[in-house]
Amino acid sequence: MNYRKKFVVDAGEKVQLSKIDPSYTGKHESHEKAMPKIQEHIACMDKLQYLLYADGNQSLLIVLQALDAAGKDGVVRHLFSGMNPQGTSVFGFKQPSKDEAAHDFLWRAHLRAPGKGEVVIFNRSHYEDVLVVRVHKLAEKPVWSKRYDLINDFEKMLSNNGTRILKFFLHISPEEQLERFKQRLDDPSRHWKISDADYTERELWPKYIEAYEEALEKTSTKYAPWHIIPANHKWFRNLAISEIIAGTMKEMGLKLPPTHVDLEEIRKKYHIAEQEQVKQGSKGSGA
Ligand code: ATP
Ligand code: MG
Repeated sequence: MNYRKKFVVDAGEKVQLSKIDPSYTGKHESHEKAMPKIQEHIACMDKLQYLLYADGNQSLLIVLQALDAAGKDGVVRHLFSGMNPQGTSVFGFKQPSKDEAAHDFLWRAHLRAPGKGEVVIFNRSHYEDVLVVRVHKLAEKPVWSKRYDLINDFEKMLSNNGTRILKFFLHISPEEQLERFKQRLDDPSRHWKISDADYTERELWPKYIEAYEEALEKTSTKYAPWHIIPANHKWFRNLAISEIIAGTMKEMGLKLPPTHVDLEEIRKKYHIAEQEQVKQGSKGSGA
């Protein structure tokens, strides 16, 4: 299935999240049936990350945004744990620290953007500055409303510098969110994840949806597209995202760089010659 085409927000497209079914699973019936495909995509991503790192000319930035409990952490855990930690990192955007708040809103994002050869995952991102900031009125409208253009320019600059950008909005229903909160409540190993804010933020759901719709509409571009991923079913979310990432990485033309040394020379000098010496030595000592 071409989930990239199905879930991408085309540049300038109007977004109405209420029209998109968060429980969508396409023709796939179950986790078990989707599993081989997910594994295949993950293996492909891992192989291509090795090439991306070896090649050292391009980078990949994955942006994950969602309301609480939609599965950002699950995506990181399930889809990226096979990549080599050398060359891969995850950055979680929390409330800005004093130092971060003293700079422009893109500063901390730029600081964490991937260098050549790297894969970086933003768990939340600079988009919080047009989402939570808007919903909680942490900045006035004339301030946050100018940020869409600033974000597009920032992402264009990263893209021009060799960074492939893929952005995912994990779309869940309020009912599914409540069910996941309840599961956390029933599981002592996950009690630490529960906060009052999770429940109070829920009350602001329509305001978040409004903020997300505008952000998705105004910042989905050819060079940094948004994808709206139905995420009520965790396995389907993993299937769609892994397919989109693997498909994109395949298009990046990643290959092993050529060697800069004379391999034959090295083989002769350090391996064949030394092996000969070792052989000679062992013959000598036996005599
Ligand atoms: P989980 O799903 O596990 O709860 P999380 O991403 O919600 O993960 P938290 O530590 O619970 O992590 O929350 C981080 C909080 O920081 C979020 O409520 C987010 O909206 C907030 N935040 C991130 N960026 C900003 C920002 N620029 N200004 C204000 N708040 C921000
Ligand atoms: Mg949270």
